[in-house]
Amino acid sequence: MVKEDFEVIIGLEVHAELSTKTKIFCSCPTEFGAAPNTHTCPICMAMPGTLPVLNEKVVEYAVKAGLATNCEIARDSKNDRKNYFYPDTPKAYQISQYDKPLCEHGYVEIDDKEGNKKKIGLTRIHIEEDAGKLNHDELGGGSLVDLNRAGVPLIEIVSEPDLRSSEEVEKYLRKLKSILEYIEVSDCKMQEGSFRADVNVSVRKKGDNKLGTRTEMKNMNSFRSITRAIEYEVERQIDIIEEGGKVEQESLRWDDVSGKTFSMRDKEDAEDYRYFPEPDLVAIKLSEEYIENIKNTLPELPESRKQRYLEQYKLSEKDAKLITSSKYLSDLFEQTIEICHNPKAVCNWIISDISRILNETEMEPIEIPFDSKQLGELIILIDKGTISSSIGKKVLVELFENPRSPEEIIKEKGWLQISDEGAIKEIVTKILEANPQSVVDYKGGKDRALGFLVGQAMKETKGKANPQMLNKMFLEELNK
Ligand code: ADP
Ligand code: ZN
Ligand code: MG
Repeated sequence: MVKEDFEVIIGLEVHAELSTKTKIFCSCPTEFGAAPNTHTCPICMAMPGTLPVLNEKVVEYAVKAGLATNCEIARDSKNDRKNYFYPDTPKAYQISQYDKPLCEHGYVEIDDKEGNKKKIGLTRIHIEEDAGKLNHDELGGGSLVDLNRAGVPLIEIVSEPDLRSSEEVEKYLRKLKSILEYIEVSDCKMQEGSFRADVNVSVRKKGDNKLGTRTEMKNMNSFRSITRAIEYEVERQIDIIEEGGKVEQESLRWDDVSGKTFSMRDKEDAEDYRYFPEPDLVAIKLSEEYIENIKNTLPELPESRKQRYLEQYKLSEKDAKLITSSKYLSDLFEQTIEICHNPKAVCNWIISDISRILNETEMEPIEIPFDSKQLGELIILIDKGTISSSIGKKVLVELFENPRSPEEIIKEKGWLQISDEGAIKEIVTKILEANPQSVVDYKGGKDRALGFLVGQAMKETKGKANPQMLNKMFLEELNK
């Protein structure tokens, strides 16, 4: 809990890897997960004498991101060198953008606690190259550098310090992520580092106009860690101030295991980077026509899809919001409707069972292993009465574990009817408890009572229970 007389101020720098096929200044592939240093060439390994050539797709994707977040697009922009030395950056500088970013003055809208729209300002979006990666050998064999990631294109999206709580941060990040997914400029896979945030946090006494000193937690890539880190850091800063101390401006590292932040280094200021215009690249001049063309390729964004769902499918605001929060879920929703023509059922599967499994397994929607055809088929089987909806839930689990045709799954598992002994036993027990008079009747010699009980059980299971098994189990119970 934040102490009442303090206000929390947060600004984020989000790095998103662009899903271009090739790197930003060379033609190496950007694909994740290759053997170390196999996606490299003299340019991205920074051999002397090599020259960068800007990948035009990178500009296009960044402009797309800018347009989708209400930014002004610069007609005149350029690249700059940001000088720093770190072993994962073989040039000893990063090509980025300093004073003339591609996009500026945008915003992303979130719903605040009261449900009102709140605009989170975007200071800028600029393009830059990613660094390589150091793999630290835990056995003490030193550190190995992998340059596959060096030169993968990034956009950095810098927000104004407009966020006031970890809840707002999560809403903002989810919204931003879904926008980037919709416009297909980044796959935003957080666990692969394609979508990560530097989190700047400060606190101030309520009523103060001046911002407090901030600390920055670098490269955070899970919502849970971000929330925990903010909460820890806010408390730490308030404690320092209340004890009469001063918060140091520094970069911190969040440690998930201990649940604490640690000092990494004093925070650099812009002058430490000795920015200057990149001499090996020409200026980026964009025509009105170019920007207009990109504008015309923008797809329907989450907000307008949500509105459409309210009208077209009569979904509730809450359900429509959940489904459209992810392009993958939203596409799955629409494609499955094409197959089974039952929007209500598709919506229910997505917002309840599918979402629950995603949460439990910390899976991103994009990682859902089955497709709309399989989900559609499952819904049809339930609608036709081939399987019950409780069997349907089991089929869904199978679809997550080993996706194949639901028809095949129920055949293979013998789920066509309820023939599961445990399930039958449950039904029998329930029906017996609900019909004590029939039990008395049967024991009193009225054999017809057995037929009545079986009938009740069939009704209860909408005809899905295996009748032979029911008969047998009722007899066993009644003759006990
Ligand atoms: P850098 O971290 O590269 O030096 P900036 O000065 O542009 O960059 O700030 C980066 C981020 O820090 C922005 O998202 C901004 O909103 C945020 N920020 C700046 N000052 C504060 C502050 N006092 N408290 C919280 N966030 C801040
Ligand atoms: Zn290369
Ligand atoms: Mg920063």
